[in-house]
Amino acid sequence: MKRPLFGLIFGFILTLQAFAQEEYYFPGEKFDPAIPSPSQFLGYPVGDWHTRYDLIVKYFEKLDQLSETAQLQTIGYTHEHRPKVILTIASAKNMANLEQIRQKQLQLADPNQAKPDVASMPSIIHLGYGVHGNEPSSAEAAMLTAYWLMAAQSDLAKNLRENSVVHIDPTLNPDGRDRHSLWANSNKGFPAVADPLDREHNEAWPGGRTNHYWFDLNRDWLPLAHPESQVKVEWYHQWYPNVTTDFHEMGTNSTYFFEPTKPYGSENPVVPRKNYDDINPRFAKYFAKYMDEIGSLYWTKEVFDNSYPGYGSTYPDIHGGLGLVFETASSRGHVQSSQRGDITFAFTIRNHVVNSLATMEAALDNRVYMHDYLREFFESAVSEGAKDPAKNYVFGDEFDESRNRLFVQFLLDHKIKVYENSADLTLAGQSYKKGKSWVVPTNQPQYRMVRTMFEYVKEFADSVFYDASAWTMAAAYGMPFAAAPSAKSGNQVSEVEAPSFSFPEGKAYAYLIDWSDYYAPKMLFELQKAGIHVESVHRSFSSQTQEGKVDFPAGTLMIPMGFQKMKAEEVSTKIKEIAAKTHQKVYAVQTGLNLSGIDLGSNLVSAVQQPKVLMMVGTGISSYEAGEIWNLLDQQLGMPITKVNLEQFGRVNLHNYNTLILPSGNYNSLSEGQVNHLKDWVNRGGTIISMKNASLWLNRVGITKEEAVKLEEEKEPASLRFNTRNDFEGAKEVGGSIYLAELDLTHPIAYGYHRKNLPVYRNTDIFIKPSADKYLTPIKYTANPHLGGYISKTNLEKLKLSAGVVISPSGQGRVVHFFDSPNFRGTWFGTNKLFLNAIFHGDNMD
Ligand SMILES: [Zn+2]
Repeated sequence: MKRPLFGLIFGFILTLQAFAQEEYYFPGEKFDPAIPSPSQFLGYPVGDWHTRYDLIVKYFEKLDQLSETAQLQTIGYTHEHRPKVILTIASAKNMANLEQIRQKQLQLADPNQAKPDVASMPSIIHLGYGVHGNEPSSAEAAMLTAYWLMAAQSDLAKNLRENSVVHIDPTLNPDGRDRHSLWANSNKGFPAVADPLDREHNEAWPGGRTNHYWFDLNRDWLPLAHPESQVKVEWYHQWYPNVTTDFHEMGTNSTYFFEPTKPYGSENPVVPRKNYDDINPRFAKYFAKYMDEIGSLYWTKEVFDNSYPGYGSTYPDIHGGLGLVFETASSRGHVQSSQRGDITFAFTIRNHVVNSLATMEAALDNRVYMHDYLREFFESAVSEGAKDPAKNYVFGDEFDESRNRLFVQFLLDHKIKVYENSADLTLAGQSYKKGKSWVVPTNQPQYRMVRTMFEYVKEFADSVFYDASAWTMAAAYGMPFAAAPSAKSGNQVSEVEAPSFSFPEGKAYAYLIDWSDYYAPKMLFELQKAGIHVESVHRSFSSQTQEGKVDFPAGTLMIPMGFQKMKAEEVSTKIKEIAAKTHQKVYAVQTGLNLSGIDLGSNLVSAVQQPKVLMMVGTGISSYEAGEIWNLLDQQLGMPITKVNLEQFGRVNLHNYNTLILPSGNYNSLSEGQVNHLKDWVNRGGTIISMKNASLWLNRVGITKEEAVKLEEEKEPASLRFNTRNDFEGAKEVGGSIYLAELDLTHPIAYGYHRKNLPVYRNTDIFIKPSADKYLTPIKYTANPHLGGYISKTNLEKLKLSAGVVISPSGQGRVVHFFDSPNFRGTWFGTNKLFLNAIFHGDNMD
């Protein structure tokens, strides 16, 4: 009988403590006692621990169960199968009419429908938190904000429940959040250690900022490479919120940042000026007022890049809402010392709580104004689109069905209207065939997103970029595209279906598969996994197939039926299954004697080795680049890749692998013995795929000897004013921009490509000369390569005619150097195949 009594007393003390805690966040506020505060629910004061994501979801489930003013929705799952949730809070009356409210908001955002009476419409507020998992104050603030909104008795809270619908997304990146929370909690000291050097404040690689595949989800609202953002953007288009927040953390010695960002600096070119000049300052007054009340310091305007459309605070700006970024000084851990004394976790949480409240108050006070703006935004999009001289963009790659499908689906995901192209067109020497190309008119409500997909931007008011300065998505997908005022559009496309091809039944001498399709490498990998022997034909040829004479380009896959370990019928059945699964067309031939070009048994035909790939990862290596590679092989090919931490390299026997990937990073920690093992393995036939500065290290240790580009004389002023340092030095960086490269279409790195000009993405200032061997620079930048994004004049001079890819032979092996980013952000579908060619055809590259 003693235990329950103890429990009662313990619970009572806890409740008192919890109330005292909420007093810190909401001084003087009265709450409905029927709703448990986060502290009561969790059993500890908010700020004492980094709350596990499942507990955050459980708290929201509790709020959903307790009151009809809250509703929890699961919109999808992360890679690690955590639910992506949104808690919606409004008065019981509004909740009962939620679907009508949503439909009205959609009507408001659609200029083709009558404008509804906005005076009666609640403000749609979308509070998004924690896209960076190791900026943890935000999700704690989300719980407190939800509690306040549901339970507070103040006039403001009541008014918000009556006149707004608030959607709370507690964590845009649950996988990263839990990775970091586990770190911070498991390294917490008792008493807590504020020393910035303590392990608690210094996460192990790769840290919790990113998602499962080490992607920054605050770049993914445009690319939609991951389920977290896919379901988020799908949800976004069901609501068109008037205001969207994005809460972050920055350095411990900093204070607090809210918008406006730097005027005319790094603003997005398609966002109406009214957003920057009028709406942001209106809201900023509220943030200042709330921060002044608690005596917290803050700043605005000085920097922060607002241009890249894939930020959670910029995408809403391109959709008639207001996207707001907030950054608090971070305690990164439970308490950390700073120039202003100790920064506690609770302090950082409170900063975000007050700005959540300020956002809602500002949205409420500007409810009608923001509704009118949403309407204006889409009306002006249509009228500006109608005046755009491009009138239409036409696109399509006649050789790659899958990549077309991926791009059309991508446009549809962003609610862009796409039509079939109803007549053959030729523009600037590029043909766009009916049935294999599509038309996107500029005259549509998503006009500003159309520009985002198809326009190259080269002129900038500022030269310092925190991030990418180019994002032309048609180029990323490797689409031939052009402005096409005279294009004729056919049926509107509402969905895209993967094709199914008939399989050639009966006996075959060999099967042939064109390498041009995006998923041809997936088919190859599946074939190899199934134990089927596959070869590659290294020259173009024509064969008599089940469909008559067909021309095949170099790189075509050939499956000789006389050299299989399994029975012929079994092999054919497997090929048929894999072809259906990967949507590839298979041709059968009955003879090795070709109609033209080399025959199928030529010395220019060779077995494709099954990749056994190892990638170096860990401290000092770019987790972004490694993650892009991991994601590509996992998600697009289903190919396992062994990821080895640099400090484990001593345990590796490279002879168990045929391909080693070195992402950008610092490899100086490898010992002489380990470097010798690497040299020996390459010399015996291994392939190293080296990214950007990893190549400089290979040069230093003598495995390769490629040379950097040097200009005649680089003149810099001898001295400059102290306060110009950031601008001057920042301008030299290649933050991320798009360039035109020229491919040697005969080289295996270009198998599957049909046009020698290819846009590539580059975010490094390493410029390397073409190889001394004139056959081994298969990708070079053109003499006039600049397509989009920022680059300084000096860097552009260095880039011209420099190498994009160089092959350095070493004994019987070779290094394939990439100086651009073929897998950037999981969205450069147009250049993925260059990288995959290095994996599958590395042994034929020199
Ligand atoms: Zn952040």
